[in-house]
Amino acid sequence: ALTGTIPAAGALAADVAAALDALGVDRALLEGAHECRSPITGEVLARTPEHTAADVESAVAAAHGAFPAWRDVPAPVRGQLVKRWGELLTEHKEHLATLVQAEVGKIRSEALGEVQEMIDICDLAVGQSRQLFGRTLPSERPGHRLAETWHPLGVVGVISAFNFPVAVYAWNTALALVCGDTVVWKPAETAHLCALGTDALLARAVREVGAPEGLHGVVLADRVAGQALVDDERVALVSATGSVRMGREVAPRVAARFGRVLLELGGNNAAVVAPSADLDLALRGIVFAAAGTAGQRCTTLRRLVVHTSIADELVERIASTYAGLPVGSPTAAGVLVGPLVSQAAYEAQQAALEQAVAEGGEVVAGGGRVLAEEAPDAYYVEPAVVRMPAQSAVVQEETFAPIVYVLTYDTFDEAVALNNGVRQGLSSAVFTRDLEEAERFLGAAGSDCGIANVNIGTSGAEIGGAFGGEKETGGGRESGTDSWQAYMRRATNTVNASGQLPLAQGVEFV
Ligand code: NAD
Repeated sequence: ALTGTIPAAGALAADVAAALDALGVDRALLEGAHECRSPITGEVLARTPEHTAADVESAVAAAHGAFPAWRDVPAPVRGQLVKRWGELLTEHKEHLATLVQAEVGKIRSEALGEVQEMIDICDLAVGQSRQLFGRTLPSERPGHRLAETWHPLGVVGVISAFNFPVAVYAWNTALALVCGDTVVWKPAETAHLCALGTDALLARAVREVGAPEGLHGVVLADRVAGQALVDDERVALVSATGSVRMGREVAPRVAARFGRVLLELGGNNAAVVAPSADLDLALRGIVFAAAGTAGQRCTTLRRLVVHTSIADELVERIASTYAGLPVGSPTAAGVLVGPLVSQAAYEAQQAALEQAVAEGGEVVAGGGRVLAEEAPDAYYVEPAVVRMPAQSAVVQEETFAPIVYVLTYDTFDEAVALNNGVRQGLSSAVFTRDLEEAERFLGAAGSDCGIANVNIGTSGAEIGGAFGGEKETGGGRESGTDSWQAYMRRATNTVNASGQLPLAQGVEFV
């Protein structure tokens, strides 16, 4: 642990205040009963309002009111708004990264990386604004044509998680805006400042390009008031990122009103390490995926499935790498592992380790709290490696902390079965130099996850690919390829230029 890295009281709050000013956040929004705390020190950084269900209702009304005008703006012109937003994000990358770092506790390069992801999706969305294409299809009837046309959907409600407080909103919003939708955002309760900073830049872009006001709204609501967004019939799509528990609450409510959902829920990601793997490369991939972001990514590596013949060697190498991993304030140079987000997260991490031991596991490295004296209100832990005799109950759960469970296998079929033997299905990886194993892992009988990688860890996706997972992860896809289609509605058109009225399937009528 890097003692002496914890910032002096008030230092973070001062940096945050300067960043909020530079981003143009309205000071009236920095008053209220909600305490915005930093997991780096536990201190209160700022205060924000607590929006009610009535506030949510007004934000939805505004977005609903702005929709008809925005829908009529040609898509490439809508792209100009996203282009300007991307430019402002580029200009203010450091300021927004300061907020991400302060509210989530990410190290600087990861906080900057998160803002870069927003810039990248803006670039992608601007290009997409000229490619919202439908297909034309041959008709079975002479002189007829079949086509599909994509239209704007309406209001998109975005619910986001604490750990990617700005990127996930941008994935949704950059695409939703070019698709002609308007957006209401309910950020995580722990990331109000990130939300206000991000929204201030979008507001500036809206003003500069002359887009309709009301196009975007932020509601600083807790999960109870946030239900108003879920239940509102004017919200055509609810895109919700967070835990499986949240998805279980949100999805049935939206389904009950026949709304659409896009769910990005928890993961329980595994990497298979085969005997042929390049262990130096695997080690780096494993350590970044398991300990990076203090284990608080949806794609964090939580299960390592290692061939019996190399398990001891690999575990020993991970443990010795962990022993040298700098844990401390993410604002300090050299630190790679920052804090857990809250005391509750720390308690869940401790409980999981106890349960693992009760289920026959052995904690080989890490797991303990550090820096408790220097930062009594913050929760820093050493990343843990735990050998498990089986994929028991604790291994089946996503504990949002840096704990990697190690399991062993003898045949590749066993490895795939372990990979797939949990309820979540987000990310997965295989480290191998055996082409057949790699292809089997990627094949239909291989990994059942939305992300399946070869010789690279489970985390750190690029925005060009569609992102999301299967099973309890919720089935949604965001970001690249055809994910934009989730933000539009499709009409199938049959156009008859024949002057006759032949019926399909040869049906005869009047
Ligand atoms: P969380 O489920 O506690 O909260 C996520 C968001 O949902 C918050 O904004 C919260 O206020 C809101 N929420 C919760 N219940 C709600 C309800 N009934 N109605 C309306 N809103 C509600 O999750 P978290 O602790 O913030 O984030 C960590 C979780 O998110 C992990 O499970 C992680 O795997 C997951 N996650 C998934 C992805 C992905 O793309 N699959 C990305 C990031 C995080």
